[in-house]
Amino acid sequence: MKFETIATQGFLEPQNNNHAISMPIYATTAYSFDSVQHAIDLFDLKVGGDIYTRLSNPSNDLVEKRIAELEGGVGALVTSSGQSAILIAMLNIAGAGDEIVTSSKIYGGTYNLFSKTFKQIGINVKFINSDNLEDYEKAITDKTKCLYTETIGNPKLKVADIEGLAKIAHSHGIPLIVDNTVATPYLCRPFDFGADIVVHSTTKYLSGHGNAMGGVVVDSGKFDWNQNSKFPMLTTPDESYHGTIYTEAFKEAAFIVKARAHLLRDLGCCQSPFNSYMTLLGLETLHVRMDRHCENALELAQYLESMKDINYVIYPGLKSSADYELAQKYLKKGASSLVGFGVKGNGTKFIEALKLFIHATNLGDVRSIITYPAGTTHRQLSDDQLEKAGITKDFMRASIGLENIEDIKEDITNAVKIACS
Ligand SMILES: *Cc1c(COP(=O)(O)O)cnc(C)c1O
Repeated sequence: MKFETIATQGFLEPQNNNHAISMPIYATTAYSFDSVQHAIDLFDLKVGGDIYTRLSNPSNDLVEKRIAELEGGVGALVTSSGQSAILIAMLNIAGAGDEIVTSSKIYGGTYNLFSKTFKQIGINVKFINSDNLEDYEKAITDKTKCLYTETIGNPKLKVADIEGLAKIAHSHGIPLIVDNTVATPYLCRPFDFGADIVVHSTTKYLSGHGNAMGGVVVDSGKFDWNQNSKFPMLTTPDESYHGTIYTEAFKEAAFIVKARAHLLRDLGCCQSPFNSYMTLLGLETLHVRMDRHCENALELAQYLESMKDINYVIYPGLKSSADYELAQKYLKKGASSLVGFGVKGNGTKFIEALKLFIHATNLGDVRSIITYPAGTTHRQLSDDQLEKAGITKDFMRASIGLENIEDIKEDITNAVKIACS
């Protein structure tokens, strides 16, 4: 089935839910066992089924199946937030003494997780401040467990060369992990370009209405964890499951099964079934919303380019963008809703003069939202780190919503006038 059909109807089995055609919220923490043997088989991972909602839940299961299918993967795992999805994806293959290679132009929250918390637990993340693929390759050592990137880097909107990065990763026997939050599988499917694992903050476009935190890890099932001895966590016995070897027992789904059976079990950052329900509602209109998000964002970006009091505009869908060619390759249907720009005059006055745009730190909401990174999301970064992330004091990041585009333009026009007066 095609994208739109999977998004609205995929894997819905009304006959298994009292014929309900909207997925019920399974507000239960535990599930009864048919027999002692049934319980033993479930605990030994010999049969599939629900034991306890920290591990799995039928409402969560439907979201996982749909997102896995939309991304073209073999399985998915929903988590309490995007941050916890990234944490689980990384800890599934990396531990103390290991290394990860990524860009310095990634989402501020991920930058903090990698540079602070990962350092504390002994994982060394190398941040590459360059768009040159060779610089990524040079940073890889025997200890490197993956390359990590964002399809559209948040907030500077750099489009990743997924195919190029995947080739480098694979030539060193390691996977490419991609945060596909800003593109969504509607605009880009990283697995089609060689990525091995995808993560999302479902908090953003996938749920889409700014009302449900969540994350997801998706496994392409294509990476061969047995090709070298870099991934003993997947290829040697797990004593907590009676010596199960994930790659033997679960074949191409080894990564995603381990993420659930080991890390979700131990870390407990599970998705609330209520949030899965909200995410499912959002997913059902993803394709319709993304088309309008892209249309409004492109029109606003072009309008901003024509304004004299705007210093620069960043939108990969603009012909003037340095990333236009990459966007043509990876984002054929549109370059998502984020538009970056520099405002002449007083930035604080600009933000406070906006009436339609909500000043908040979120994106992918149906409502237009403006963020002032140097003052909020990237506040923890030092001047040096800010410069490396390419964030200047005049930089605004807007997530263009689904309002009427003329109202959006008028709001910006008025606020720019006030900022420059
Ligand atoms: C928001 C965001 C995250 C973190 O997700 P949360 O759901 O807020 O934990 C990770 N990556 C990107 C690109 C994001 O925009």
